[in-house]
Amino acid sequence: MKKRHAIHVLRSENFSDWYHAVIAGADLAERSDVRGCMIIKPYGYAIWEKVQGIINSKLKTYGVQNCYFPLFVPIDVFAKEAEHVSGFAKEVAVVTHSRIEQDADGNFIPTSPLEHALAIRPTSEMIIGASFAKWINSYRDLPLKVNQWCNVVRWEMRPRMFLRTMEFLWQEGHTAHATAKEAIEMANGMHNAYIDIVKSSLLLTCFAGKKPEHEKFPGAVDTYTVECMMQDGRALQMCTSHYLGKNFAKAMNIKFQSAEEKLEYVYTTSFGATTRLIGSIIMAHGDDDGLNLPTCVAPYHVVILPIIRGEEKSSVLEYCEKLQKMLDGIDVLIDSADYSVADKKWNYIRKGVPIICEIGLMEVKQNTVCYTLRQPEIVKQFCSMHEFVSSISDLLNKHDATLREKHKQVTEQNTMHMTSLADVQEYFAHNTGFVVVRWCGCTGLLSELEKISVTVRCQTCDNCDMHECACIACGKKAENLYILAKAY
Ligand SMILES: [Zn+2]
Repeated sequence: MKKRHAIHVLRSENFSDWYHAVIAGADLAERSDVRGCMIIKPYGYAIWEKVQGIINSKLKTYGVQNCYFPLFVPIDVFAKEAEHVSGFAKEVAVVTHSRIEQDADGNFIPTSPLEHALAIRPTSEMIIGASFAKWINSYRDLPLKVNQWCNVVRWEMRPRMFLRTMEFLWQEGHTAHATAKEAIEMANGMHNAYIDIVKSSLLLTCFAGKKPEHEKFPGAVDTYTVECMMQDGRALQMCTSHYLGKNFAKAMNIKFQSAEEKLEYVYTTSFGATTRLIGSIIMAHGDDDGLNLPTCVAPYHVVILPIIRGEEKSSVLEYCEKLQKMLDGIDVLIDSADYSVADKKWNYIRKGVPIICEIGLMEVKQNTVCYTLRQPEIVKQFCSMHEFVSSISDLLNKHDATLREKHKQVTEQNTMHMTSLADVQEYFAHNTGFVVVRWCGCTGLLSELEKISVTVRCQTCDNCDMHECACIACGKKAENLYILAKAY
């Protein structure tokens, strides 16, 4: 008999439809009436809050403080860094009017044109740079490290929930330093912090390193990225940090008086992670029964479903509450809503809750717990309440270890090393996955990759056994290895 799945589309049938079915099945978000925008529902937002908590604690260890800057950036300010403005010019939303009025036909039309149009931030280097220029006077004011949690808008032509939306939520950190060395250390430090979050909290295998020249953040000297493989073999850029050199300091005139009393430009960095991380959790850990959440980002570790029939109600509920209390330090939800227990159980399976308990009169009488683990497979188990409580950490660790291992296997099985461009072209004609190659940085490779919709994701220091040092495109000596992939 064919196994029934909680998600009506299988990953193997249509990955994109499956992705959207998981989002709907777990009730994470839905499309907005505004094209390209999304509504994040409470369960999706609760996951985002968990992600925020993890990132905030990392930011603290680097001495970064949270603050808030305006949504609007005057266009003349936005345009001060040439590479930056040309990089974002094609996706920036602009406010040009400040009122609406009803015309003779009853339609509302914008009136009162603004003297100076306002860009809606696609990122905040310029508006924060303007404040940095005011706040920084002396070397004593450095380093300055701030972060904001906010929304940004980038006019997206091909939106996809959580991965690319016109408006999205993120954190953007911005720092200023007296020396290039300090600023590079900061950008590298945050890069390493992101790697740690991706590996330890999101349980994902990743590749991390510098972006090639043509893929850098507009205006950056260096961009560092973390790239993960999704289950369809495509790459997802997880988070980025940028060393900006003096580029933004010069554009925004951010100067400080050094200890030697010389007036000098600061060196800046910026770094960010978005709600796209939720997309990565769905696409990397999800299965044909829905979402799978690493315990670090799961709003509930355990959901208890009371099985209530008439007069048993109070004793069953009491037992559930006792169990909740005993699971100290674990996020537990008791769901006694008047839906069938079977429906509720599949609902929480689709939501990726690691452990689901069903408690009826039999469990109360025998002092036991009936529970279902989301990982490694969905099977009902029974044990004494004492045994369940004492093994809860092990059960959650096993859940996490399974997710980590599954993603590691998918990544390893679909990552290969190649030494000929023909092999790369042949591979991507029929497959998705990561291909590691040597490349000297020449544009010859880029034009060939463009034809097959493949991009250079990042440099990698992966210790492979590729002893040949020739660039895959031009044959010249190439020091560095790069990851090639089709990407989101
Ligand atoms: Zn080359």
